[in-house]
Amino acid sequence: MRIDIITIFPDYFAPLDLSLIGKARRAGLIDVRLHDLRRWTYDRHHTVDDTPYGGGPGMVMKPEPWGEALDAVTADADGAVPRLILPTPSGRPFTQRDAVRLAEEPWLVFACGRYEGIDARVAVDAARRMPVEEISIGDYVLNGGEVATLVVVEAVSRLLPGVLGNAESAAQDSFSPGTMDHLVEGPVYTKPAVWRGHEVPPVLLSGHHGAVDRWRRDEALRKTARNRPDLIDRLDPDQLDKRDREV
Ligand code: SAM
Repeated sequence: MRIDIITIFPDYFAPLDLSLIGKARRAGLIDVRLHDLRRWTYDRHHTVDDTPYGGGPGMVMKPEPWGEALDAVTADADGAVPRLILPTPSGRPFTQRDAVRLAEEPWLVFACGRYEGIDARVAVDAARRMPVEEISIGDYVLNGGEVATLVVVEAVSRLLPGVLGNAESAAQDSFSPGTMDHLVEGPVYTKPAVWRGHEVPPVLLSGHHGAVDRWRRDEALRKTARNRPDLIDRLDPDQLDKRDREV
């Protein structure tokens, strides 16, 4: 997968050299390209913002550098068209389902807003040439789109073939479409079996895979009910067995 990120703070993306994503980049599984938006400014101060039309506080990112940046970044592609992701608190909420969907894309471009956001005409103009989506990572406001982009890039890249050591682990994670639809994962344990007097649930030591699976499902349902009651109502009734309903 190719990922282009346009930002006024390329240094924000240093973490993409680390851990599993760093390894995946070095292995050629993900091709991340960082672009400094200021490269497409021509005044002495490399200005990327201006005052908002209609008045009000704050500044808005100017359309010209963004238009040129997107033209340049998406040009050298032999007819391929990327999907443009615009992180914004006013976007659609980003979920694991979106991560799975975006992991199927060959090429993503992220446009990191700052200040009060990017002039709205940039998205309209880009949509003439490529699919565009506005994504929010949660109901709170960050200073810029860099952290939101890191969140989406990490959630998507770990689903790409070869990035995780054990592909099965992603399928069992919280919210995974199919197995963990609208469910969070229950508690997990490792050795020793007793630590500071706290015992690991005996079923996990039983070697009985059916019983372990059942316990995990029960715990996932309990934890979802406790921490995310909003999700319980969204569980598909056809996917619930008799025991699920008792939990
Ligand atoms: N004025 C905007 C509003 O009220 O919706 C907030 C702008 S915010 C200070 C600056 C930039 O941070 C946004 O353009 C976006 O790129 C990013 N951002 C902030 N919160 C975000 C969130 N929850 N999800 C995704 N991106 C976010």
